[in-house]
Parts: sequence; C-alpha cells; structure tokens
Amino acid sequence: MSSNDVTEAGTGTGETISLCEVPIDNVTLDEALARIDACIAQGRGGYVTTPNVDHVCRFHRDERFRNAYRESFLRLADGMPLLWASRLFGKAIRQKLSGSDFVYWLAEHASGKGYPLFLFGAAEGVADAAAAKLRALYPGLLIAGTHSPPLGFDRDPAASSDAMRRVKDSGARVCYVALGTPKQELWMQEASRVPGMPIMLGIGASLDFIAGRTKRAPVFLQKTGLEWFWRLCMEPRRLWRRYLIDDSYFLVLLLREARLSWSRRAG
Ligand code: UDP
Repeated sequence: MSSNDVTEAGTGTGETISLCEVPIDNVTLDEALARIDACIAQGRGGYVTTPNVDHVCRFHRDERFRNAYRESFLRLADGMPLLWASRLFGKAIRQKLSGSDFVYWLAEHASGKGYPLFLFGAAEGVADAAAAKLRALYPGLLIAGTHSPPLGFDRDPAASSDAMRRVKDSGARVCYVALGTPKQELWMQEASRVPGMPIMLGIGASLDFIAGRTKRAPVFLQKTGLEWFWRLCMEPRRLWRRYLIDDSYFLVLLLREARLSWSRRAG
C-alpha cells in the first residue's frame, strides 16, 4: 500500500481539529483504517466524509449538510488547500487522505480483512466497471454488490429505502457512496440510522475515476492544490459556479480564521 507523506509536525495522534469551524480528524492512513476496523468490529455503522474547500464553504451555508458532517464518525482531509491552511493556523494536518486515493487504500484493506464492499451511485454501468477494476487490482476483494439508482431517487422515500435495503441485505461491511455533494452526505446520514447498514464512505466522482470514465488530475496538480482547476477544465459548464463563485467564500473564511488566530495569540 502506498500513501503520500505524513507530516510529523502535526497536532498529535488523531485528535479532531476545527478548521474554519469544520471538524477534521487529524489521522494518518493507518489510524483512519484502524478507526474503520473498530467501527466494523463493534457493529456500529456510521459514515466517513472527506472535507475539501467545496465542503468547507457548503458547511457554512447549508445547515442540513453541516449536521450531516457533524454526525460522521471520521472526517478525512481531502485536499492540499486544507493542509496549507491548517499549517498557517498552527494545527497542521498530518496527512492528505483524498477520497479518490482512499477508495483504493480501503479496497486493498477490505480485501485483506475480508470485508465485502458495495459500490453505490454513479451513472449506470460505472459502478460495475469500477468493481471489475478493483477486483483486478485486489484479487481477494469481495464485491457484495453494485447499484446505480436513477437520478432523483433520493427525493423518493420508497426508492431511497429500497436502495438502503439492497445495500444492507448484500452483507457488505463497507459501502462507497458516489452521489456527489451534498446528496451523498445527506443520504449517508439517513442510511446510517438504519440498523445493519455497513460503514459508508462518500466518494464523489471516484467511481468515474476508477472506471476510467473521467480522467483524474495528474499528480503534480493534486500536489499543488490545483485538482479543482483540472476538473473545471474537464467540465466547465457543470462546475464553473461551484469553483469560481461558491468556493471563493473560502477566502473570507480564511481571513476570519486568521483574525481569530491572531486575537487568540495576542490574548
Ligand atoms: N451522481 C449520482 N446521482 C446523482 C448525482 C450525481 O449518482 O443524483 C454521481 C455522478 O454520476 C458522479 C458522482 O455522483 O459519478 C460525482 O459527482 P460530482 O462530480 O459532483 O462529485 P464531487 O466529487 O465533485 O463531489
């Protein structure tokens, strides 16, 4: 299993930090996997979120999303901008654990542990193609099932409950939920109330990346915090508003955090 570098100058072992008021668990890859193992061993269920700039901005303008975030049991820092901001404000996040990388690490871990994996969401055929890719990469991986519900299923209570039943009855211990933000976080919050649901991880466009339907940004753009720019170039009509308008609020949040941090130091 390969992973990106761990910063030893972090705030400590796995504590939850608050960045622009968003809770983020300051864990390394091994610690994140251990938390998931503990949850599965205790049969607790629950869901994992992956805060990035877009999520941080949405957290401030959408109360339902904020609540869904607060209920998740593990929040993994998804992008470089959050790592840089955390260093600036003296609470360095130790490792970038992007959802799009974590899907591979957790699949490998699941294959070793024998956790059956369910792939939920994305356009028709994408989850099946991603399942085939993951099985080829990790031959011991058990795929409990795949399901790509039609657009709008989440607004239909019967269709949503039916989807939850499929996931639950599959015997999966881990489920990747690829519905985009905020649908996936809201759906996972609701699904986590159903006894017997597996651990869920909100993964955005990751099934498209795994299946090769969408090309992920090159590594140098991921490392320089410009993955968003790549995605904007790939899908400008769908994403311009998100990245150029909605997410510019991140600058306001950074200034606010800087002011708070300075007044704490001065006081
Ligand atoms: N998607 C879906 N159902 C929906 C909306 C989106 O299955 O109602 C899927 C879509 O096909 C894609 C994924 O959600 O596979 C990711 O969407 P997006 O790019 O918005 O995710 P992000 O990574 O930006 O959160």
